[in-house]
Amino acid sequence: MEEEVDVLVSEVGPRDGLQSIKRVMPTEVKHRWIKALAAAGLREIEVGSFVSPKLLPQMADAEAVVCEAIKIPRLKVLALVPNLKGAERAIAAGAPKLTLPVSASREHSLKNINMTPEQAIAQVAQLRALCDSLPAGQRPGIEVGISTAFGCTLEGPVSEDWVIEMAVMLANNGADSIGLSDTTGYANPAQVRRLFTRLFAEIGDKAGGAHLHNTRGQGLANVVAALEAGVTTFDASQGGLGGCPYAPGATGNIVTEDLVFLLESMGLRTGVDLDKLIAARSLIAEGLPGEPIYGFVPDAGLPNGFVYAGGRAAA
Ligand code: ZN
Repeated sequence: MEEEVDVLVSEVGPRDGLQSIKRVMPTEVKHRWIKALAAAGLREIEVGSFVSPKLLPQMADAEAVVCEAIKIPRLKVLALVPNLKGAERAIAAGAPKLTLPVSASREHSLKNINMTPEQAIAQVAQLRALCDSLPAGQRPGIEVGISTAFGCTLEGPVSEDWVIEMAVMLANNGADSIGLSDTTGYANPAQVRRLFTRLFAEIGDKAGGAHLHNTRGQGLANVVAALEAGVTTFDASQGGLGGCPYAPGATGNIVTEDLVFLLESMGLRTGVDLDKLIAARSLIAEGLPGEPIYGFVPDAGLPNGFVYAGGRAAA
């Protein structure tokens, strides 16, 4: 029987990480990397983005990657879809869960997807209709991540009332879960606790996960704040893959290895084996030689006598 988990760690490296690196990881290495991540105990992986291959050649093999990933037993496979066209491709490839980014910042939304936030929210209703038109049992889940929820590089501060208003509209438009993303690394723990507490109060069990960045070193502190607000799903990227292109040497996504260590050492079961997870980093080195990857735990190693939350001693 599969071990229960207290917190779901959703790995986004193969999508969020790889799409921000110019070089393309060979498809065959992606397959092996995703298998290694799943074998380390990760239960959910965002494996690719169904964006135009002209815009992101790194994601041109999304169909092939999804087809291979859905064969892995017990793995929840997520595919990012920027729009309905992408959703149609993802559904045809058999993606069981779709994630759609909707930006709280008007300028970011226009620049990123050429739609206002209101248009992007309306598109979720169309996506719901598309999914509902499929035979029962073939309908993918719809997750929406509100990007720039904690601030925007273009607009500056983002209204918290607006973020909550958006979440309510997205829930009404048929999203199954709505999470909050600190796309820019602007969030602080007080803000994270406040906004997720409001999210739970407004949309209850439709409140989704936290996608936090470590751009300003607040990533894991923000995780603890989100945990205190009741969040049980966290995105993270192996090796913090995908550093922010505007801050050389700075990491973007929080590092999966460090997140798993934080959670397990706090007594929260993730189902992940850190030794196997750290070993999976070799696939990044193989697919993208010389690419910088981060993480304190992989550098320092596990503490002497470390015991996982479930009571298992580290190897
Ligand atoms: Zn990210």
